Amino acid sequence: MKHNIVTFVSLTVIVLCSVIFMETDYMWFVVLAIFLLYLGITAYGSYQIQANYFIKSVNKGKKSVALTFDDGPDPETTPRILEILREKKVKATFFIIGKKAEKYPDLLRQIYEDGHIIANHSYSHNYLIAFFSTSRLTKDLQRCNEFILQTIGKKPAFFRPPFGVTNPLYNGALLQTGMQSIGWSLRSMDTRAKSKYDLIEKVISNLKRGDIVLLHDHISVTADALEDIIEHINNKKIDIELLSKVINKEPYV
Ligand SMILES: [Zn+2]
Repeated sequence: MKHNIVTFVSLTVIVLCSVIFMETDYMWFVVLAIFLLYLGITAYGSYQIQANYFIKSVNKGKKSVALTFDDGPDPETTPRILEILREKKVKATFFIIGKKAEKYPDLLRQIYEDGHIIANHSYSHNYLIAFFSTSRLTKDLQRCNEFILQTIGKKPAFFRPPFGVTNPLYNGALLQTGMQSIGWSLRSMDTRAKSKYDLIEKVISNLKRGDIVLLHDHISVTADALEDIIEHINNKKIDIELLSKVINKEPYV
């Protein structure tokens, strides 16, 4: 992956500069500057899932658009969102948090029975998940998959890293769980939207064919805006389809 190349180049440049500037007073300054640049690139790569810096994610599709909802299920807003999707005859993908879904198995079944895709967004959604060991990370992802399998009889093939933050350890965890990392091409920023109009504007003004749209089904403003968002997309003559169709991959293994 890209981070291996960047690490190799950075180390090589540090060694070369150490030799070239060895006799000067500013050798340590040069080495520190390169190291800080390396840290900056690494931080950017961790937070920008589209950069495919540590792991290869699918961040965009073709022709139509896919609506994806993270961080549910939520007993208040997920049913509202399901109702709107039902009325508008739109199918979506829900990246669920295992520990939340355990509390609402009927809601998880409802999402699946409505024809939407259930995908993995980790069991814990722990703030420190990026610092988990490979084995702890793998267990976390597996625990979510096991609950989904028990509840709907399907094992997800799609996984979205919590907070969109990645690191090299995800490669091992994804290999062991047989899942594909999914990013997004359009971040709605619904978690920070001041009003539903804010959110509608953000999505509609930036929407392009093939977009994977990141939304959240535990946020009431998202439910408030959803009907208008769907109507605006319809007006643009762009189809909304399941993520599996937009990226042409199977949603379950
Ligand atoms: Zn999340």
